[in-house]
Amino acid sequence: MLTLTQVKNKSAARLTGLLPVVAAAAERLTERTYKRGVPIVITQGLRTIAEQDKLYAQGRTTAGSIVTNAKGGYSYHNFGVAIDFALLSADGKEVYWDTKRDGNANKVADWAEVVDEAKRLGFAWGGDWTSFKDYPHFEMTFGLTTAQLRAGIRPTAAQIAAAMAHITKEDSYIVKAEDANDLIKRYLQPAWAACKQKGDAAGMQEAHRLANELRKASGQKEQ
Ligand SMILES: [Zn+2]
Repeated sequence: MLTLTQVKNKSAARLTGLLPVVAAAAERLTERTYKRGVPIVITQGLRTIAEQDKLYAQGRTTAGSIVTNAKGGYSYHNFGVAIDFALLSADGKEVYWDTKRDGNANKVADWAEVVDEAKRLGFAWGGDWTSFKDYPHFEMTFGLTTAQLRAGIRPTAAQIAAAMAHITKEDSYIVKAEDANDLIKRYLQPAWAACKQKGDAAGMQEAHRLANELRKASGQKEQ
């Protein structure tokens, strides 16, 4: 039986390069599903545009079968806002894509338990798509299309702050102090400064409140 740390270590490399709030949500998802007796592994995170192009070529201009309909820049993976997962056996030696598997024997498919937790954390699920269902896929798009992302548009500090606050609220675990401080530094301090410049007192207060929520959740003193 793997410990939570061992399970998280299996996915750690895949979280690199993700938008920090998406990485935090993926980490929480791994913790929360583990608590349910459903260990998971994140199999895919950020995919560079070159990697996506290579994947798109597979089954078209290179050997193998077609695995994606998205060219480079047309997948949310290319912008660090999507993850794919698979189920893990208790000893971590087997990986499953069986959506009916019930490893924790609670008569609910493990896959559905993972989807349930992911949605609560604010992810949208590829299995809900009508045209091409992508069961291992979760994304947090902040209402942006890949066209907007290709054009360089990114989620606003307010959107990130709201998503972060949601994750913190949903999370019964203590957030790591370094993660909390990283998120504060990257998003909430710039959001606060931007509000200050606009003379938006309510915005400043909200950014301050969210930063303190994160500090509290990570066992630090409020400021
Ligand atoms: Zn995916």
